[in-house]
Amino acid sequence: MRVAIIGAGLTGLIAGRELVRGGADVVVFDKGRSPGGRLATRRIGGATLDHGAQFFTARSPAFAAQVDDWKECGLVHVWNQGFNGTDGHPRYVATNGMNSLAKDLAVDLDVQCSTMVFAIRDEPDVNGITVVIDDGTAHTVDAVIVTCPLPQAFALMIDGGIELDETLFRTDYDRTVGLLVRLDGPAAIPASGGIQDPDEIFSFIGDNASKGVSTEPAVTFHANPTWSEAHWDDENDTLVDQLTAAAQPWLGDASILEHSLKKWRLATPRSIWPDPCWTTANGRIVLAGDAFAGPKIEGAHNSGLAAAHTLLD
Ligand SMILES: Cc1cc2nc3c(=O)[nH]c(=O)nc-3n(C[C@H](O)[C@H](O)[C@H](O)COP(=O)(O)OP(=O)(O)OC[C@H]3O[C@@H](n4cnc5c(N)ncnc54)[C@H](O)[C@@H]3O)c2cc1C
Repeated sequence: MRVAIIGAGLTGLIAGRELVRGGADVVVFDKGRSPGGRLATRRIGGATLDHGAQFFTARSPAFAAQVDDWKECGLVHVWNQGFNGTDGHPRYVATNGMNSLAKDLAVDLDVQCSTMVFAIRDEPDVNGITVVIDDGTAHTVDAVIVTCPLPQAFALMIDGGIELDETLFRTDYDRTVGLLVRLDGPAAIPASGGIQDPDEIFSFIGDNASKGVSTEPAVTFHANPTWSEAHWDDENDTLVDQLTAAAQPWLGDASILEHSLKKWRLATPRSIWPDPCWTTANGRIVLAGDAFAGPKIEGAHNSGLAAAHTLLD
């Protein structure tokens, strides 16, 4: 079985690995310069900062088994057991930044980065599904797994002769504006290393030094969906000024040496499809991602597994 996977985020990489284990011939396309999608880590000077996903929990047996493997390989460790006291659920982080998990999964896969898929077509005179890359090349495969956020998936398939479920594509996504800062000293963040919903602007503040991701003081500030939407069209300089001012109480005596702004347009799906993936009637196209099994790393993992098994079964 030849399978093309669109998107080398966690969903696509987990699906790819599972399909290869099942004997399929797999190629993964991603428009980004490297795999990971929202598992994103950036270096600023000597500091390392996660700027997409910040941490994860493991509640399902399938994902807990994956986390055990990552722990054994030294890829992840427990950051804390809660941000405001202990609740008994470990919060995990990737020791070398979230993106290292994607890089590790991509090693044994044929991942073609900087490759934007332009269209997916299911044409009656072609035995298979055609995936068209933006340079015009076409790949015909037996099946396709589409893992990009649903508005992007819809755009790829709208003219492709594929019967789509309209309700699926009405899923909207929250936005996140993020500010990354490298500091000249430790931030004034509580011992757990992270703060959830501290005020009317931020949804999460993560101390990358406390996570063990950065050897230099560096903090990630994520604005909440309401603030991010309201200020989305502000000039970048205005966004930086406003977020920097709001960040001051969490910086203590430290000063910002360098900063970087990151805007996630399709950060978090607002509604979750009741099944872990969705398949066309002929079984050749599977949609998967965090809009299916939950808007988190765990959901992306479990959706990727489900998509692979839908095809293998
Ligand atoms: C700001 C932020 C904070 C978050 N915090 C947390 C957290 O603390 N804990 C947690 O568990 N989760 C968190 N998440 C959610 C988590 O990151 C996602 O649920 C998960 O990474 C989604 O993985 P995915 O593979 O489904 O999608 P993605 O990672 O988005 O992967 C989709 C991929 O498709 C590619 N793509 C899109 N269109 C095309 C195309 N036409 N051709 C080729 N490639 C294409 C993209 O480049 C991308 O790499 C956060 C997300 C954001 C944005």
